[in-house]
Amino acid sequence: IFITFEGPDGAGKTTQLRRLAEELRQMGHEVVVTREPGGTAISDKIRSIILDPVHEEMVDQAEVLLYAASRAQHVHELILPALKANKIVLCDRFIDASIAYQAYGLGADLETVREVNRFASSGLQATRTYILDVPVEVSLARLHQRAAGTETAAQQLDRIEQKNVEYHSRVRAGFHQIAADHPERVRVVNADRSQDEIVADILSDCNRLLKE
Ligand code: C5P
Ligand code: MG
Repeated sequence: IFITFEGPDGAGKTTQLRRLAEELRQMGHEVVVTREPGGTAISDKIRSIILDPVHEEMVDQAEVLLYAASRAQHVHELILPALKANKIVLCDRFIDASIAYQAYGLGADLETVREVNRFASSGLQATRTYILDVPVEVSLARLHQRAAGTETAAQQLDRIEQKNVEYHSRVRAGFHQIAADHPERVRVVNADRSQDEIVADILSDCNRLLKE
């Protein structure tokens, strides 16, 4: 099964994903943990182009296609082979991120973003998607706090994180729309709580999923 984690930067996706992986491994499952944009050598190179704050001139079309190119390599080189080998794949962001950030956030045409990503991923869809939801003020505050305490470039805000509150509000609304459009696949998880509470919710849903 293929499980994806979505939500704004600073919602705690990465932590939750690691903790869920740990729990599933203790239950005896083989788990692959990966992230987008990234997950393979080619995809990681594309990631660094997309997120580099120097590339202010990047046009929306290039952004959509670069995310999709990164995803295409990731899906075919890593995700599909792992699913074929019956592993559980946990992925930090997937197509819903492109819908939320590039379609709802930037205003790229929704159907085009869907179509390009269908092509990129050969139609692969998540079995379950957890959207970690926090108010925009909370996620932005966490991001700025993280960036303030650091010196290295990797921990500074990336090109997307630097965008304004209006942009991030459109992205959050986009995630809510996605959840409304796909009630069978998507679960919205209140991430403005303790890590233990969040992980418990996700784990109990996951256990149900594994029994199906
Ligand atoms: O989740 P992570 O912080 O690794 O994502 C890297 C950056 O890429 C974030 O700023 C995220 O908002 C952005 N992103 C995006 N569109 C996507 C996927 C990620 O703008 N489709
Ligand atoms: Mg981030």
